[in-house]
Amino acid sequence: MNKEIFDFFNTDLQFIRGVGPVLAARYADILGGRRVLDFLLHKPSYVKPREILDSVTEAQIGDVITLSVFIKSHKHGGVFKGRRLPTQIVCTDKFGNQITIQFFNVKFLDYWTEKLPIGEWRIISGKIEKSSRGNSFIINHPDFIELPENVSKIPTHQAIYPSGEGITQKNFSNIRDQIFTALHERIATANPTSNMLEFVDALEHIHYPETSNDLTPNSKYISKLAYYELLAHQTAIAINRRARKEQKNLRPIRQKKYDLLDKLYSSLPFSLTNAQNNVIQEIFDDLKKPTPMMRLVQGDVGSGKTIVAIAAAIKMAESGAQTALLAPTDTLAQQHFIKISAMCEKIGIVCDLLTGRDKGVSRREKLTSLRSGRTKIIIGTHALFSEDVIYKDLGLVIIDEQHRFGVAQRTALLSKGTNPDMLALSATPIPRTLSMTMYGDMDISIINEKPAGRIPIKTSKISVLRTTELIERIAPQVAKGAKIFWVCPLVEESESIDMTAAQSRYEELKKYFPHTGLCHGQMDKKQRDAVMATFADPNSDMKVLVSTTVIEVGIDVPSATIMVIENAERFGLAALHQLRGRVGRGNLQSYCILLYGNNISPDGLKRLDVLCETEDGFVIAEQDLMMRGVGELLGTKQSGWIQYHFVDYREHRDLFKLAQSAAMNNFEETDVWSKDLRLIFDCSTIAGA
Ligand code: ADP
Ligand code: MG
Repeated sequence: MNKEIFDFFNTDLQFIRGVGPVLAARYADILGGRRVLDFLLHKPSYVKPREILDSVTEAQIGDVITLSVFIKSHKHGGVFKGRRLPTQIVCTDKFGNQITIQFFNVKFLDYWTEKLPIGEWRIISGKIEKSSRGNSFIINHPDFIELPENVSKIPTHQAIYPSGEGITQKNFSNIRDQIFTALHERIATANPTSNMLEFVDALEHIHYPETSNDLTPNSKYISKLAYYELLAHQTAIAINRRARKEQKNLRPIRQKKYDLLDKLYSSLPFSLTNAQNNVIQEIFDDLKKPTPMMRLVQGDVGSGKTIVAIAAAIKMAESGAQTALLAPTDTLAQQHFIKISAMCEKIGIVCDLLTGRDKGVSRREKLTSLRSGRTKIIIGTHALFSEDVIYKDLGLVIIDEQHRFGVAQRTALLSKGTNPDMLALSATPIPRTLSMTMYGDMDISIINEKPAGRIPIKTSKISVLRTTELIERIAPQVAKGAKIFWVCPLVEESESIDMTAAQSRYEELKKYFPHTGLCHGQMDKKQRDAVMATFADPNSDMKVLVSTTVIEVGIDVPSATIMVIENAERFGLAALHQLRGRVGRGNLQSYCILLYGNNISPDGLKRLDVLCETEDGFVIAEQDLMMRGVGELLGTKQSGWIQYHFVDYREHRDLFKLAQSAAMNNFEETDVWSKDLRLIFDCSTIAGA
């Protein structure tokens, strides 16, 4: 059955004829693994025609061509100055142009001379090259040598694989041929299931594509493989989910002691939005269940996620348990602490801040209070899960900007308590169909409503040529007390150029606004924090802050009302949306001005229009996904998206839904093919797996 096929899938590539350990190691770098299966899951990126030519002079050097040749002579490669010379077979095409076929390290001469006998015609196919002196055409080790009547045996197209150092396309096609030959032998004896046969058949079609269409996301074969891949992942997610719901590790039973929530709500200067109330209800429902909560709250910047988190923390505190709130940076931890501790004070809850800056006595005191259970809410950075931090009863872990943390960090913090609940917050809206694949087994809540009274941000795009005009227009606003973020882009991820752009803009703006501040990645963190703190201080003279994108995600400067983004076309929509979210946080009219460079494309302008038209993060994320794909959605690769082999996030959205419902509704965990698929498409990276 399929076991023999799997044995072959798991064979190390070095045992494939013609590979060996050196080449196998090189393949491992490209394929991300060195098994036959890793090769099979490596999709060719495109198809090149193997052009049939009459005259070799029509060929471009480097082309793969098919040509009829007449064999004139054999030149055996002797040894010259210690080097073995190639065996050369001199031929001519139909027009008498000369072309030489070369073989290196020939051991069995007769083999080639018999395949290419003098005085006969043959069809050969291979990559055309020029001799070192540049005066004659050469094909080294042709891919095909056939009799003229067998021309149809030579494929008209060649699959081109994404490759790397030390591996040629010919290596790829050789190993592919070896693998499929062996695979067919196995299939003949092993009698695999029909699912497996269909799977191998689809693979074979994409490894031997006939046209470029075979490799597009919507081709019959790619869609089939993509569906299998999605099904594997979605089933793994469904299994995790089910396992979590059934798990025996229950949260400890705690007695409810006070009624602090009402106190919290009545102390707020505003009333909660419907969306906030709904999410809080979802959280409280989770807390009534015996198994720990794993919930992600998604909401745009400024949608008011913090208060939702606090409500959960207060609920915990009521039962005597503690909450740890993990923030990605010191600055954000501090900002949270200032707000949250003010609320806690009103209702008599002890709240504290712990970051890497705490040392000596102060740190020891904080740890003691935490261990005794007096501190109910602790806010901080990774310092929260240092080894010597001990909680009396950690009931809830809240992770802010959750995509900035890895699974390991999350686990480290969770292990500080007995099956604590987890609440993750994210300001990156992900289209709903995709968030399931990304956040695996978390339940998702969405805050899709801004607090009342928020004035929409006015967004416009203007050419960088009009910068002076822009400065003149904002000057009166600044005179009236407006604060301005001026963001310069990262140029080719090079910190130094990046800094220069911001630096020169800073010099320029200082002429107009003498107290302008500057903030970039090459400053040390202390300096940077100091500049940002000055800017955030409503009473400081620093009205303009020029910065690269180092300005913190989520930093809160309510008096900032203008956001200028230079070379906006270089940012992803999601990134622009995040940046824009730094303004419009107070109750004043805010503006976002997208400055675009001279050589912006029409598509680039269209992308900026999306931003001018809407402030809905989910709409923007959707557009970003459609226009640029997933990589840009979160700005970085390390963001936790599953790296698929065949799935295209943009083209396969219907398949996502199909696989999702198949996995949720009618999968059998023990179904053989479903298990096989999970083995084929390694599902070990799925959250919680
Ligand atoms: P984010 O979702 O970006 O973390 P915050 O929780 O920081 O947003 O909230 C942004 C601002 O909105 C804060 O100043 C907060 O006090 C305020 N806020 C939150 N909820 C409401 C509400 N329902 N009505 C009015 N203001 C609110
Ligand atoms: Mg926040």
